[in-house]
Amino acid sequence: MAPVPMTRLNNGVEIPQLGFGVYQVPPEDTADVVATALEVGYRHIDTAEMYRNEKGVGEAIAQAGARSGLDRGEVFVTSKLNNGYHRRDDALRAFDQSLADLGFDHLDLFLIHWPLPGIDVDYVETWKALEEIYASGRCRAIGVSNFNPHHLRRLFAQAEVRPAVNQIEVHPYLAQDDVRAFDADHEIVTEAWSPIAQGKVLDDPVVVRVAERYGRTPAQVVLRWHVQRGDVVFPKSVSRERMQENSALFDFELDGDAMGDISALDRGERTGPDPDTFDWTPR
Ligand code: NAD
Repeated sequence: MAPVPMTRLNNGVEIPQLGFGVYQVPPEDTADVVATALEVGYRHIDTAEMYRNEKGVGEAIAQAGARSGLDRGEVFVTSKLNNGYHRRDDALRAFDQSLADLGFDHLDLFLIHWPLPGIDVDYVETWKALEEIYASGRCRAIGVSNFNPHHLRRLFAQAEVRPAVNQIEVHPYLAQDDVRAFDADHEIVTEAWSPIAQGKVLDDPVVVRVAERYGRTPAQVVLRWHVQRGDVVFPKSVSRERMQENSALFDFELDGDAMGDISALDRGERTGPDPDTFDWTPR
């Protein structure tokens, strides 16, 4: 796998621009799937307490260490605070549990998974807990996920630490240029989740035409579009071939026409919940 460019966060920490996402990878398969991703060459894994597979991620990294000398420090690992743990004490405990499940002494990046403005805990309280975690040195960077500019503005008013990233849904059908511009203006790196819209954009005739013009696959031109826009991406696949395909992005470049054609597909279409209306209630 070709070297992946590093993106510098606002605190100087560097994150590989391409990673591997494990949403919907079954817990019992995760160690094997992540082991394959590490063999292919991925050095950035995106997990979450919500995915119930942090243990498998940690196991794969530990086993790669034992088998081939891979150092924990060579892999950038992100996890996320689940929705039920927004109170300060719960957030601190949940972080400890994520670390224990991963088997790590530190995380690279920890995010508030959803802002949940409708619940009775203010996400500013949650952010303060993440600031405590950051200050303890057990997490190299902290950030948010699914935050719109109005959520971030409220956070800025009381935060001491500026979020390093905002992980949001972005793909050709949901370009999110307003949120991305806001993030960039405030030195927040945008991470694009569901970068190929869970496969939905791959049959689009425009994407197929661009792929044919470059002799690449639809997934590769869409992921390359993200890379050239400067976002961090972590496509998910359980197959080694697709992991390889999704990582071969750094030996070609889309021209302005191709970038423009893919960008013009934006139609505000989400595959997941809208952060402003996501009606999460405890189970
Ligand atoms: P994705 O856009 O990465 O699409 C994954 C699906 O596309 C898989 O089911 C796979 O079968 C298919 N696929 C992958 N590569 C392919 C290829 N080359 N050709 C054809 N099909 C291919 O969707 P995702 O998994 O939802 O998102 C990626 C990651 O983003 C997740 O694993 C997770 O880490 C993160 N995420 C975060 C949030 C959040 O709220 N923060 C929400 C969803 C996902």
